[in-house]
Amino acid sequence: MSYRFFPFRRVKRPTISDEGSFFILRPSGSYKTNCATMLIRGDSPILYDVGSGKEVFHSIRSVLASMKKDKNDIKYAILSHFHPDHHTNIRSLKKFLPNANMICHKKAFNTLLQPFKYNTGREKIFERRSIKYSMISWNFYNRIFISKKIKYYTVENDPLFKFGNLRLKFIHTPGHNAGHLCLHDLSNKILFLGDLVPFTPWIDVYSEAVDDMIYSIKKLLDINPKQIKHSVRSHGNLSDNAKEVYEWSEERERFERYLDLIYDSLEKLPKILKNRPLKINEIASRILLNEYNSYNKYMNVFFFPPNVSWIYSYLLKLREEGKVEKKKNKWVSS
Ligand SMILES: [Zn+2]
Repeated sequence: MSYRFFPFRRVKRPTISDEGSFFILRPSGSYKTNCATMLIRGDSPILYDVGSGKEVFHSIRSVLASMKKDKNDIKYAILSHFHPDHHTNIRSLKKFLPNANMICHKKAFNTLLQPFKYNTGREKIFERRSIKYSMISWNFYNRIFISKKIKYYTVENDPLFKFGNLRLKFIHTPGHNAGHLCLHDLSNKILFLGDLVPFTPWIDVYSEAVDDMIYSIKKLLDINPKQIKHSVRSHGNLSDNAKEVYEWSEERERFERYLDLIYDSLEKLPKILKNRPLKINEIASRILLNEYNSYNKYMNVFFFPPNVSWIYSYLLKLREEGKVEKKKNKWVSS
């Protein structure tokens, strides 16, 4: 999520990092709420995400100039998912990059066409009604940022495309967002993770979110490790000097631990709730080790603490499996 439109936010200068086969265009604000945009070198350079804030386009222009290319040479921008920090610049894409069109996953595009439909499972799960409405307004906000001037191409079933000298595979990795796409550059053995990163604090709350996340992690773990040298996060790892690029063996191992944590939490929750009805916030403080309230103050005000999205999603899955139930505003084991 990005709240760049708030006038009081201080703007730092964005930075650019040349990683060989691609560039990281770092955002000007905090990595918690702003993502980096990736520009992949090629006969026709490719963008992975367009970010938010006009300074991204200035970074793109200076990188293009360094490659002796210009704004007309970018034909495609691939969108990892529709969260405002990743896509808000679609609105001004044509102005800065006249030939660029968007590629996104079909599911991501469909959520834009139905901004008032938010999948919260079969019935109301939220204790605070405002949360449901903020989810709907999130989708509505996204819709405003679709531009009619741009062509949108949607992908399904993990296609492999050739873009000039580049071979890029689109990998549907739902969970963080139902229409999330990772991008595997097979020519350079780079896996762009977008926001599908180990221990992500946020998961979009919908009834299959945790199953989707498990599916996506397994899918990444199943890729032949010889085909990936490095993986790249769209938000630098704040517990490691905001680092984005890791050897895949290291990041892969974190994904394995992440999967274990998800399974552990699913096992732990029904035990915690045995004969002891608890509210969401009480459950969160028992399951989440870090202070779950402190991640991001804007998210807390307008949505809810990001980590609590996990608790909601766990409970939805466990309820589908008949392991927990909701009584009034408390949850308890069945
Ligand atoms: Zn993001």
